[in-house]
Amino acid sequence: MPLMTKQHALFITEHFAKSWQQQLSEAFNTIEGLCDYLQLSPDALPISVAAAKNFPLRVPLSFAACIEKGNPHDPLLRQVLPVYDETRHFPGYTGDPVGDLPAAAQTGVIHKYQGRVLLINTGSCAINCRYCFRRNFPYAELQLGKQQEEAAIAYIASDDSITEVILSGGDPLLLNDARLAKLIAQLNDIKQLKRIRIHSRLPIVLPARITDALVNMLSNSRKQIVVVVHCNHANEINSRVITACQRLKNNGITLLNQSVLLKGVNDNADVLSHLSERLFAMGIMPYYLHLLDKATGTAHFEVFEEDALTLVKHIKDRLPGYLVPKLVKEQAGAASKLAIF
Ligand SMILES: *Cc1c(COP(=O)(O)O)cnc(C)c1O
Ligand code: SF4
Repeated sequence: MPLMTKQHALFITEHFAKSWQQQLSEAFNTIEGLCDYLQLSPDALPISVAAAKNFPLRVPLSFAACIEKGNPHDPLLRQVLPVYDETRHFPGYTGDPVGDLPAAAQTGVIHKYQGRVLLINTGSCAINCRYCFRRNFPYAELQLGKQQEEAAIAYIASDDSITEVILSGGDPLLLNDARLAKLIAQLNDIKQLKRIRIHSRLPIVLPARITDALVNMLSNSRKQIVVVVHCNHANEINSRVITACQRLKNNGITLLNQSVLLKGVNDNADVLSHLSERLFAMGIMPYYLHLLDKATGTAHFEVFEEDALTLVKHIKDRLPGYLVPKLVKEQAGAASKLAIF
């Protein structure tokens, strides 16, 4: 670890004292900026400008600060760096492997599974994960119009079988407090709803988003609140992340984690076991370990199903059952995610 200069330490302290919106606006958005901060020479990396044009680099400083300086093989760097492999084509990889995002962009609702609906209000994220299927959709700034949002709420209210609404995206916690408060108030009024679930990577990559105001809003909801974070490697957990998650936890919010199994990032029994241990130590239960959705430009992250199965069996041999995430994959037309183990 190189010595931190005084100037650099000051820059870091000042940055994390700013509002979450300000921190987000200062996220790294160029390869040069990120490489400079990480003390890496862009020439020594398999960087692709074309890949970055197609799906921009976006990395908040809180996440970048967890990347080891000077290490071109860092597992967190691999999740965010635009590389040449993304521009290659592989059979079986398509622009829309999940198949339901375009429909959601129109209506805001994905109702595939019994009792649960996904509500998509925003297409943007604080971080651009290179393995994400969202990378191939041009509507990063999707915002549901007022009419569409009202129609989506009316749809949920009219179906007695719906007991859980999942705020997804994009990242639903990028909505501002006023919009979230209105949404939660509307959901509170729907009698048959028991739970509001929030799928967000912000507690991990932009923990400043977990403000007292947000936590109060969530914990004052009449519905039970479940927050499913997305963390792939224990190195993503820093002191700011721990504080944010404890704030949620201490206010009665259930915390779960989902990870994506990624080659060169977490396809290793030690890494995954350590992740489960670290998550549990901060009150987060491992939930899902997803096989990669086969989106164009992500093939270099693929872990084959039989290797994934072997890996999870190894974890099961060394951890208590409740720390072993369910290995799942998305299957078009199925009534739920397909459990592999
Ligand atoms: C993953 C997913 C859910 C939630 O599934 P759980 O198994 O309840 O976590 C709901 N709807 C859709 C369309 C999904 O992809
Ligand atoms: S935060 Fe989630 S939705 Fe956003 S780019 Fe990363 S994986 Fe995709």
